[in-house]
Amino acid sequence: MADYYCPRCTDKLALRPPLPQVILTPYQDEKRAKHTAAVSSLSHPVQSVFDSRSTRYYADCMQEAVARGFLQVDSSHRTQVIFCPSAQSSIGSKYKWGQFAERTDTVVVVKTFEPDKVHPFTENSARYVGKLCNSCGGPLF
Ligand SMILES: [Zn+2]
Repeated sequence: MADYYCPRCTDKLALRPPLPQVILTPYQDEKRAKHTAAVSSLSHPVQSVFDSRSTRYYADCMQEAVARGFLQVDSSHRTQVIFCPSAQSSIGSKYKWGQFAERTDTVVVVKTFEPDKVHPFTENSARYVGKLCNSCGGPLF
């Protein structure tokens, strides 16, 4: 089970992670390559790929999401920041074992408190529909 906090409560409760720098480390660059790949890999159980292959765009998505998104805090206290710019417009695709699974419209930033590992990928906003803010009870996006 995870707890969720809407963008307003995330700020009010001072839960928002620090704004990440652009890609700094080999680990982050490996993730960037995976999530901006032109061709999906048969060796990844799940791989979500941004439509844009631009490193700049990838880094911008990460920063925008952390600045504006809502929070998911799981039972191990890991914090993800999730930002859906528009539920109607896709920004990427998800593949399972190299096979197309679904279009994605949401940026998820993981490892948000690890400056040398923080990175974004894309997800489908349907996954978060119906979840409510743990603090105010309002919608997340
Ligand atoms: Zn709230």
